[in-house]
Amino acid sequence: MGHGWEGAVLKLLRAKDFKLTVTASEQVTPHYRRLSFTDGGLLAEVGVHPAMWVRLWFEHDGKPHQRAYTLVDPDPSAGTFDMEFALHDGTASNWSGTARPGDVIAATVYGTAFTPPDPAPERLLLVGDAASLPAINSLLDAFPDTPATIWFETTSDDALPFRTRDVHDLHLIPRGDGTALESAVRTALPALLTPSTYLWITCDARTTRALTALARKDLAVPKDRFHAMAYWRP
Ligand SMILES: Cc1cc2nc3c(=O)[nH]c(=O)nc-3n(C[C@H](O)[C@H](O)[C@H](O)COP(=O)(O)OP(=O)(O)OC[C@H]3O[C@@H](n4cnc5c(N)ncnc54)[C@H](O)[C@@H]3O)c2cc1C
Repeated sequence: MGHGWEGAVLKLLRAKDFKLTVTASEQVTPHYRRLSFTDGGLLAEVGVHPAMWVRLWFEHDGKPHQRAYTLVDPDPSAGTFDMEFALHDGTASNWSGTARPGDVIAATVYGTAFTPPDPAPERLLLVGDAASLPAINSLLDAFPDTPATIWFETTSDDALPFRTRDVHDLHLIPRGDGTALESAVRTALPALLTPSTYLWITCDARTTRALTALARKDLAVPKDRFHAMAYWRP
């Protein structure tokens, strides 16, 4: 099927389209699944950066359904990467549960970018959940020796594949009514922020909005020391 008006707009914006082929699948935990892909030339054409993401195209009720997913361990020389899916009841998530080697999915690259913080951060301050674990892991890998404080919202006891090391301070926060992550960050952030920290907020839309306002308005974090993007809508 076509990609509807969103696809038409992306085409006008010169977004690049690729076909990804599934090569393997792994049920990492009961609520987290990894798929491996060959990239259809994507990495060679557009390059790689930390926390890079693409728009995958699904079909839902006969209509195009586009959702963003992060590249895990992209390897430009091999033309491969993985993606990791936090599982819930949704079209993209459910597709990951049934995808088999040989299945092909369309991907569009548009909007992904990463400006390396300059000067390099002395500490990363990362806020996320299972949907942004691939992005968080990618940042931990991109700054291997940089200390990090991570506030991570959980909805299960799954032993998720964190790439944390001893310079990383991981706080697991059960989602509860959906406000605990915001409260934890609100309490701890002011004492940790310095001109050389880099703050990354990628969680549900409400929490992302609240913490963005905290960082921008109340704590005056400069734009170039801060990235925020809602990863999903409750
Ligand atoms: C830049 C970017 C990168 C992303 N990278 C990843 C990634 O690597 N891995 C990943 O798993 N997700 C990632 N996401 C999040 C993913 O795109 C969303 O979770 C998306 O909504 C899933 O689509 P769906 O079709 O499965 O569900 P939808 O049709 O969007 O939603 C169906 C139902 O599921 C609920 N829902 C959606 N997402 C979640 C969730 N994460 N947790 C709990 N409930 C949810 C919705 O509230 C709704 O009730 C990323 C998002 C962005 C913006």
